[in-house]
Amino acid sequence: MSASSSDIVPFWLAGEAATSDRTFEVHHPHDGSLVAVVAEPTPEQTERAVAAAHAVRATAAATPAHVRAAALNYVADQLTARSEEVARLITAENGKPVKWARLEVARGISTFRWAAEEARRFSGELQRLDTDPSATGRIAVTRRFPRGAVLGISPFNFPLNLVAHKIAPAIAVGAPIILKPAPKTPLAALLLGEILAGTDLPAGSVSVLPVPNERAGDLVADPRLPVVSFTGSGPVGWSIKDAVPRKHVTLELGGNAAVVVCSDYPDLDWAATRIATFSNYQGGQSCIAVQRVLVARDRYHEFVPLLVDTVKAQVTGDPSDDKTDVGPLIDVAAAERVESWVDEAVGQGAELLTGGVRDNASYAPTVLAGVPADATVNREEVFGPVLTVTPFDTVDDAFALVNDSQFGLQAGVFTRDIQTAFAAQRVLEVGGVIVGDVPSYRADQMPYGGVKASGVGREGLRSAMTDYTEERVMVLTGV
Ligand code: NAD
Repeated sequence: MSASSSDIVPFWLAGEAATSDRTFEVHHPHDGSLVAVVAEPTPEQTERAVAAAHAVRATAAATPAHVRAAALNYVADQLTARSEEVARLITAENGKPVKWARLEVARGISTFRWAAEEARRFSGELQRLDTDPSATGRIAVTRRFPRGAVLGISPFNFPLNLVAHKIAPAIAVGAPIILKPAPKTPLAALLLGEILAGTDLPAGSVSVLPVPNERAGDLVADPRLPVVSFTGSGPVGWSIKDAVPRKHVTLELGGNAAVVVCSDYPDLDWAATRIATFSNYQGGQSCIAVQRVLVARDRYHEFVPLLVDTVKAQVTGDPSDDKTDVGPLIDVAAAERVESWVDEAVGQGAELLTGGVRDNASYAPTVLAGVPADATVNREEVFGPVLTVTPFDTVDDAFALVNDSQFGLQAGVFTRDIQTAFAAQRVLEVGGVIVGDVPSYRADQMPYGGVKASGVGREGLRSAMTDYTEERVMVLTGV
């Protein structure tokens, strides 16, 4: 896919295509080719979008559920009809292998469909008050109403589905939204803006504004956007929360996800395949990519060679090729950072079992053993195709190692033992425990988010809808 500066991709201002005399370029991470030239909103255009979102908030909130559900299903239908085009676009802007881009499109479709279902059933509660004699004849009706217009800020690694996770719940509850996509990967979000312009939602309900990072703070600070839903890196996320302590801020941040392979687990082939796949999935650029593998000592010497062989079998190369498992990272700087962390670990005595090679923006799938606990590659979020393997003696020891992290997004536990499964849910300091699979598993409707440095609040359609709204109670007297 290539572009020339004569085809400028517009942004979406209150449902209308718009351009300006400012532009920026999007390049293919695999070969550096120009993918698109994108119009950048001016401060005045940004102001118009925010003013429109604020002005339409009551109308949007009053839109009937069937209209909101129809709009969400329309988006899902359009994405379905254009799925291969969207997948190729994601591959071009992000470098994600096309088979994973197709999966992302399928998930994006499911996110919009699920939001349509939730829009239909999101109601309220009746609560009886007559448990006290003085409240005889009273009843409480509790409903949730949008807090106001939402600012959604999304990262580069899922250019469609993490945008869908901001926009779909906003439409489902009737909240206007300004979506600011990642500068390196704005194209799927802009395509979504185009599709959304074809819905019957009130004008001003959705704007997709690729404003530059240095102006994103103005949107964060704007009092007309009382909800900020941010997915991205920790430093940016926490600085947003600090900047606007009175706003309702959700942070979906990074992690260094661990998986525990227990002694009882019978199917080491399955565990190795899942771990190899989901440490290298998207070049490891997923917040729940497997990073730390903890293996019961009595299975360690059986499991590690299996894992290394499975990692070596991953097909690296051109992300537009159907057979490719692992493509480039988002840019050369990201691959250089991963390289330096692996080199540092090896310098500290770690053993390189496979990988450890960089080629421009690509980094070979890598497995390290004997990594010191305080090595950067263990402590920080690698966001690259790198695994560390560490043996453990007891499940309690393994859980302590999982928790020995500043992060806490999800953890995986390969066990068939129900007691171990419940202990994992009880003990592990994470937002989600995946039993019998990798921490990288996410179904789009389930509550999803982290603790500790991994963030605050939960996404997943129902959770985000709760987040974008607040409860208001009405007491009826004499009923
Ligand atoms: P990033 O923090 O660099 O950027 C995320 C978004 O924030 C982008 O849209 C960016 O333009 C914007 N931004 C940058 N500076 C800003 C500022 N000062 N004010 C407001 N917005 C600003 O993150 P990234 O590199 O795009 O994404 C990778 C990170 O995202 C990783 O840490 C990854 O773990 C995390 N992530 C988390 C989840 C999750 O659900 N927990 C999912 C995907 C990615």
